[in-house]
Amino acid sequence: MNRVLAVLVLLVWSGGAPALDVSDRYRSPRSSERKVRPSTELIVLHTTEAPARSSLNKLCDRGEAHYCVTEDGTVYRIVDRDREAFHAGRSMWNGKEDVDKFSVGIECVGYHDKEMGLVQIRAVRDLVKELQKMYKIPDERVVCHSHVAYGAPNRWQKKNHRGRKRCGMLFAMPSVRAQLGLARRPASDADVRAKRLVVGDDYLRRVLYGSVDTMKGKYPAVAAGTSQAQSSGGLFGWLKGGKGDAPPAAPPKAVIKAKPTANPPSAPPKTIAELKTRGYEMKGVVAKGVTASQIAGGRWNSSDTYYTIRNKIIPGSRIDPAHIEKGMCVWMKK
Ligand SMILES: [Zn+2]
Repeated sequence: MNRVLAVLVLLVWSGGAPALDVSDRYRSPRSSERKVRPSTELIVLHTTEAPARSSLNKLCDRGEAHYCVTEDGTVYRIVDRDREAFHAGRSMWNGKEDVDKFSVGIECVGYHDKEMGLVQIRAVRDLVKELQKMYKIPDERVVCHSHVAYGAPNRWQKKNHRGRKRCGMLFAMPSVRAQLGLARRPASDADVRAKRLVVGDDYLRRVLYGSVDTMKGKYPAVAAGTSQAQSSGGLFGWLKGGKGDAPPAAPPKAVIKAKPTANPPSAPPKTIAELKTRGYEMKGVVAKGVTASQIAGGRWNSSDTYYTIRNKIIPGSRIDPAHIEKGMCVWMKK
């Protein structure tokens, strides 16, 4: 799809909603072969345990996730969200096997026991929130792969056991869940309780259901009762759109650098959600024949006008006219 057409499709498809920060660059050729899932009961978070490029290539080749979120906060769509992606492998939740049949899988580039940057965490949060709304999934059913993976009997473990993987483990930790705007987590392992599985990794059990939280103190405090995510609703509002065609594939570029401190009111907004909270609305999208000054008039280069594209938010006062490009959304005060 050429760029102009892509912008047009986007405009029609999204109804003018801003923020198309999803890329189809690694959309899996397997997607269309996959069955539509009969139900969606869980969102499963994974860590790739490998760098972005190799992870994206593998996920795309094999259709092993619905989305992949990279360190710079770019969200890649891999498999259509309503179809089955092969992300959970041997898995069980509450007596039901093959979790792929009733879950959405999100791979996050990173490692199960390493801190993840805030830009990435916030992108995961916004994606999760949008999917929770879409599929009506409560916080305690946003789980990590290690919650659902189980191992078959082997030399060391005679029974089916929980603890085959520690994948995504950090997403069970209360401090990380707070960043994701998740107030609750699964309280206990129904499959262990019902003796369908035994505990095969006691450390993992203490992370998933106990008080082990190695990320404690590494993230900014989140005020109790004010889920950051709730205020950011709509960033991925376009996800509700059609599932057929896609927004233009944009290569990942520079992103907003998040600081682990509260944003003073005078600083530029860091997210689309924040722009909205501060009373800005999207006035138009730069396209062929539609210039920034046609959208924003004389205020096109004002510090009170913002341009957004691919996770970047640029104040008008800092925009280089030579770098105003098609697809940029122009935001001004209502
Ligand atoms: Zn995994």
